[in-house]
Amino acid sequence: MIHSFDALILGGGAAGLMCAIEAGQRGRRVAVLERADRLGKKILISGGGRCNFTNLHCRPEDFLSANPHFAKSALARYTPADFIALVEKHRIPYHEKTLGQLFCDRSARDILGMLESECADARVSIFLSTNILKVIREDVFVVRTADAEFRAPALIVATGGLSIPKIGATSFGYDLARQFGLKIRDPWPGLVPLVLNTDDRSRFCDLAGVSADVIASCDGQEFREKMLITHRGLSGPAILQISSYWKSPQTIRIDLAPGQEITAAFRDQATPRTLDTLRTKFRKILPNRFADRWLDANPPSAWTNQALADLERQTHAWTITPSGTEGYEKAEVTAGGVDTDELSAKTMESRKVPGLYFIGEVVDVTGHLGGFNFQWAWASGAAAGRAL
Ligand SMILES: Cc1cc2nc3c(=O)[nH]c(=O)nc-3n(C[C@H](O)[C@H](O)[C@H](O)COP(=O)(O)OP(=O)(O)OC[C@H]3O[C@@H](n4cnc5c(N)ncnc54)[C@H](O)[C@@H]3O)c2cc1C
Repeated sequence: MIHSFDALILGGGAAGLMCAIEAGQRGRRVAVLERADRLGKKILISGGGRCNFTNLHCRPEDFLSANPHFAKSALARYTPADFIALVEKHRIPYHEKTLGQLFCDRSARDILGMLESECADARVSIFLSTNILKVIREDVFVVRTADAEFRAPALIVATGGLSIPKIGATSFGYDLARQFGLKIRDPWPGLVPLVLNTDDRSRFCDLAGVSADVIASCDGQEFREKMLITHRGLSGPAILQISSYWKSPQTIRIDLAPGQEITAAFRDQATPRTLDTLRTKFRKILPNRFADRWLDANPPSAWTNQALADLERQTHAWTITPSGTEGYEKAEVTAGGVDTDELSAKTMESRKVPGLYFIGEVVDVTGHLGGFNFQWAWASGAAAGRAL
């Protein structure tokens, strides 16, 4: 059976659906070919089931890419306000949780339902459980499945990255890019918990569940948010954010007491220089169990001003060398991907292969934690959809 369309979109996730809606609304005959038995599985699990669908303070600086300018055009032409207008048109209740992050009040199902209903209005054809066997380019693109052939002059790859193989992530998009001669920036897991080296793990990981407000820094980037101790290492927003910038064997610096001077009181001679007093001071800044453990691991070498200053410095610069990350099984996103030099920043179309587009996470544009990855999916999807 042969199906002919104006555009074939591979992948019915955030980017693919947005692209389909924009193109369908402009009268294009669009098909979405999705491997899974339903659309948008990642949307459903996002934001703890409430989908952090955008961020009010979206700036190009909130994205990593070998070319930091690439995302600007698409982000400027489809903004958080555009997506919010869509959410409000569908009367979906939402709230700002923190730092401009917008979440559904009820469930991520609201966002997926909205996209599905917009697709239906735009007469988008959806093909689920579609196992793509081959993609070739004749006079048009031809996509073969076991029992059908799809043909269209435009092919949009929206198959996402490698994160969460359990729900169907594959290297399909990268393989297809390579097949057509496009360069890939080696992918790596981003927004992912870190595994501590053996020494630090045995020192701290029995405190799993304890969290603290920290500044994590690496590679010229820093994030002030919560850090969480896990059974194997560190997680929490500050660590997830910095993980996207970390590559082994770099170190990560953690300020455990941002903006505080814990030992300041000891300059006053009236404050007794004892471990108990020191512990009380640390417990005011850090959770009790972590404060005690930190002091056990880093007791002052003497009660001199110098030794106290050293302890202070150490506390603001805990330097860890993670043994690795929890990998794609736990990574919220895949960094790296199709090299942006290969694509038009305005339309996401390949410079080498006219009619071939890449959008969403498969492209070497990765957002910070906080709704930025969806904003990139919407913006890059809209950019391609408007060009079809
Ligand atoms: C647990 C978790 C929570 C997250 N929470 C948030 C959040 O709250 N806010 C935020 O901004 N970002 C969040 N993200 C990141 C965000 O989900 C992704 O960046 C975004 O979904 C990427 O959109 P995409 O359309 O490019 O890819 P995806 O949403 O991954 O969609 C790709 C689609 O392609 C399909 N596909 C794959 N291979 C094939 C193939 N061979 N043939 C056909 N179809 C195929 C997949 O089944 C999938 O439906 C989260 C990620 C995870 C893992």
